[in-house]
Amino acid sequence: MIYCRRCLTPNTRPNGRFNADGVCPACEFTSRTRDVNYLARFHELTAIVKEKTRTNRERRHNCIVGVSGGKDSTRQALWVRDKLGLRPLLVSVAYPPRHLSHIGAANLANLVSLGFDTLVLGPAPRLSKELVRAAFFRFANWCKATEMALFSGVPQIAIERKIPLILWGENPALQVGDMGTLGSSIWDGQNLVNSNTLAGGDLSWFTEVAGTDRRLSPYKFPSRESLRRARVQTVFLGPAWEDWSMPNNSSLAIAHGLTHRPAGPEATGDLFGTSMIDEDWIVVNMLLKYYKLGFSRGTEAANELIRAGTITREEGIPYADNYDEACAPEYLASFCRYIGITEAEFWAHVKKFAHPVLFDVSGPRPVRRFRPGHGLIA
Ligand SMILES: [Zn+2]
Repeated sequence: MIYCRRCLTPNTRPNGRFNADGVCPACEFTSRTRDVNYLARFHELTAIVKEKTRTNRERRHNCIVGVSGGKDSTRQALWVRDKLGLRPLLVSVAYPPRHLSHIGAANLANLVSLGFDTLVLGPAPRLSKELVRAAFFRFANWCKATEMALFSGVPQIAIERKIPLILWGENPALQVGDMGTLGSSIWDGQNLVNSNTLAGGDLSWFTEVAGTDRRLSPYKFPSRESLRRARVQTVFLGPAWEDWSMPNNSSLAIAHGLTHRPAGPEATGDLFGTSMIDEDWIVVNMLLKYYKLGFSRGTEAANELIRAGTITREEGIPYADNYDEACAPEYLASFCRYIGITEAEFWAHVKKFAHPVLFDVSGPRPVRRFRPGHGLIA
């Protein structure tokens, strides 16, 4: 286990190779952005957007923004409308009723109150649950099911409604180091489908679970050919945002009516209570990620603050220590109830997926064998 020399990212992160100096892609990106002229970047983005919306003057919407209702999507929607002067249609692929939290529903309603046309897609609840359960057992990552619906629903609507511009926030290749998504420029989101989670849009395991692919239309990422024919272009906004950050987005979204999650980071791993708050089992998924890769939300929050210069690498270590394994028992219990397993079955399965070197799995639940920021304990 080797850590990035600047932050607390370990080399266990998929698709994120360190450079020759032992620095992770996200830190390398940050150091390159120090000299970025953001005003020039903003003009560059404006030119791309203008060109793409030129022939779309009369239409009610000239772009689509995929939203969950959380802090980032709230800020993004406001920015696209008020700063770029666009007319966005917000598209949300919501979780089924038993899965969506009250806070999630309130935050979607908040976007509507802020004046946005918001289209909410709802994949069939029973299949959604079957897929969540299967993704847990196959990958120890239940989000693989629902993220496919989120990322596929947005381009599907773009094609259907003939809205040729999709705007996403962060560029995952540059900002979090998911290099599979790298496009032809910092703005280019055409390869988003190659992210670690979406795996090129491959639905083979979905088909096994569903028994047929007829039920899978909400999960089908449109082909390159159909996107090309409809002239749909996917653009990242992130590179033009000088002050895009967890604290900034949180405070701005709260000022615009976002409801945050009252539980603190010791229960959720989420420092500000504003990240991925449309449902609660993300906390369970983050715990699973921790056992597979040796880092999770505490580390990621620390990394962001380290890169922003708010804290030192050393000061970030307690975030990893205290919050990476955070998951209040009620989240775990309700997740197990939803997919119909006992907690003992949950832990037995988690131990099969836990990283065999980083964790000791001889006890009831995995116990780490490493120190964040340092590596394996000899
Ligand atoms: Zn780093």
